[in-house]
Amino acid sequence: MKSVIVVGAGIWGSSLALRLADTGWQVTLVERHQPGHVRQASAGETRLLRCSHGADDWYARMAWRAREGWRRLGERAGEELYHEAGMMWFAGTPDGWESDSARVLKNLDIPCEVLDPADGARFFPEFRGDDLSFLLWEPHAGVLRARRATQVTARLAVAAGVRLVRARAVPVPGADAPYGCAVDVGGEVLRADRVVWACGAWLPELFDLPLTVTKQDTLHFAVPAAWTTPGMPAWVDYGASAYGHGDVDGAGAKATSDAEGRPYEPEHGERVVDAESVERIRAYLRRRFPSLATAPVLFSQVCQYPLTPDAEWIIAEASPGVWLLGGDSGHGFKHAPELAAYVAGVLDGEHQPEARFGLHERLPSRGLRTSGEVR
Ligand SMILES: Cc1cc2nc3c(=O)[nH]c(=O)nc-3n(C[C@H](O)[C@H](O)[C@H](O)COP(=O)(O)OP(=O)(O)OC[C@H]3O[C@@H](n4cnc5c(N)ncnc54)[C@H](O)[C@@H]3O)c2cc1C
Repeated sequence: MKSVIVVGAGIWGSSLALRLADTGWQVTLVERHQPGHVRQASAGETRLLRCSHGADDWYARMAWRAREGWRRLGERAGEELYHEAGMMWFAGTPDGWESDSARVLKNLDIPCEVLDPADGARFFPEFRGDDLSFLLWEPHAGVLRARRATQVTARLAVAAGVRLVRARAVPVPGADAPYGCAVDVGGEVLRADRVVWACGAWLPELFDLPLTVTKQDTLHFAVPAAWTTPGMPAWVDYGASAYGHGDVDGAGAKATSDAEGRPYEPEHGERVVDAESVERIRAYLRRRFPSLATAPVLFSQVCQYPLTPDAEWIIAEASPGVWLLGGDSGHGFKHAPELAAYVAGVLDGEHQPEARFGLHERLPSRGLRTSGEVR
C-alpha cells in the first residue's frame, strides 16, 4: 500500500488526505493545532466560489468542477456546505476583468449573463449602480460555509482511515537530497513514500519560498432579514477590491476589502481588525448599499494571504517524493475538492503539475484574486 504524510489540515491538506484515503493510500495527516482552528485561512466563516477569473480559463474550469465536488461532499456529510446563491460582478469599465470573464465563461459553457446596472435592484434589498458599466451574473457561484467545511472534511478523512497526528512537523534532510520522505514530529521521525507540505502561510517558515504573508481583515455587519444568503447573492467589485454576501448562519452580512494588507506572522500575530479596515469598507458600503453604511460590525476575523508574486499557486516537488502545496494567494478554498483530485493524480504519477505552479522565478502580476486595485 502506498503511504503519504500530509502536513497541514487546512482545507487543502484535509481534502487531499481524504482523496488519497478514498483511493487506497495509507495517509497520515499532521496538524499542529486542530482542523478548523482560527489561525487557518480555511477557518474563515465563509468563502466565495466563483468561476470568473478574468482571462484565465484554467482556474475557471477547476472552480466549475469543484462545485460538483462540494455538492458530493455535502451529501456525504449530510449537511449543506455550499449555498449556490449566485454572484453579481460590478463592472466599472466595459472592457476589463468582467468582460474577459464573461468571454471565458461563455467559451466554457459556464452559465453567466450580462445585465444592465439597473437590474441590480432585482437582486439586492438596496443597490446603487450608477457608476457601473454593466453587471455580470454568475448564477451557479455562491458561498461556502468554510470553517464548517474544513472540519467536516477532516472528520470524513479520519472516518476514511486517515491517521490524524497533532504535532508541529519539520522537514528531515534526505540522504542525497535537501529533504527526505519523512517528517520530524517533536523528535519522532515519521516516514512514507510521499510527503506533502500543505502548510498555508506557515510554508515560508519551513522552506525558502518567495511568499509574502499579509494580514487580511474580514468584516460582517448586523443587517435586516432581507440581507440574508441564500436569498441575496454574493457580490464582487473587482475594481474597488471589495466583496461580500448576505447573512449566512447568523454571522451578519460580509463586506470586506480584498486589497493586500500589511506583512503578518500567522502563528503569533494579534488577531484584531484595524480601524482603517472598517473605515475603508464603510466608505464602500456608503456608495453601493447606503443603508448599511452605519450598520454595526457584528463579527470580524483576521486571516492571512500567503501571496506568490503572480498569485499562481505552488505545486512543486522540492526533493524526490517531497511536495510543496501552497501559495494559495487568497483564492484557493473554492477549488479544494478538485485540487485534491488534481494533486492525487500528480502523486499517482498520472500527470505532471502545470508549469505555472513550479519553483521558477515568478513575475509580479495580478488578476486571479478579486482585487483589481493598483496600489
Ligand atoms: C480573508 C480571506 C478571504 C478569502 N476568501 C476566499 C474566497 O472567497 N474564495 C476562495 O476560494 N478562497 C478564499 N481565500 C483563500 C482560502 O481561504 C485559502 O486558499 C485556503 O483556506 C488555503 O487553505 P490551506 O489548507 O492551504 O491553508 P490553511 O487553512 O492556512 O491551513 C494550513 C494548516 O497548516 C498547519 N501547519 C502549518 N505548519 C505546520 C507544521 N509545521 N506542522 C503541522 N501543521 C502545520 C496550520 O496549523 C494550518 O492548520 C481567502 C483567504 C482569506 C485569508
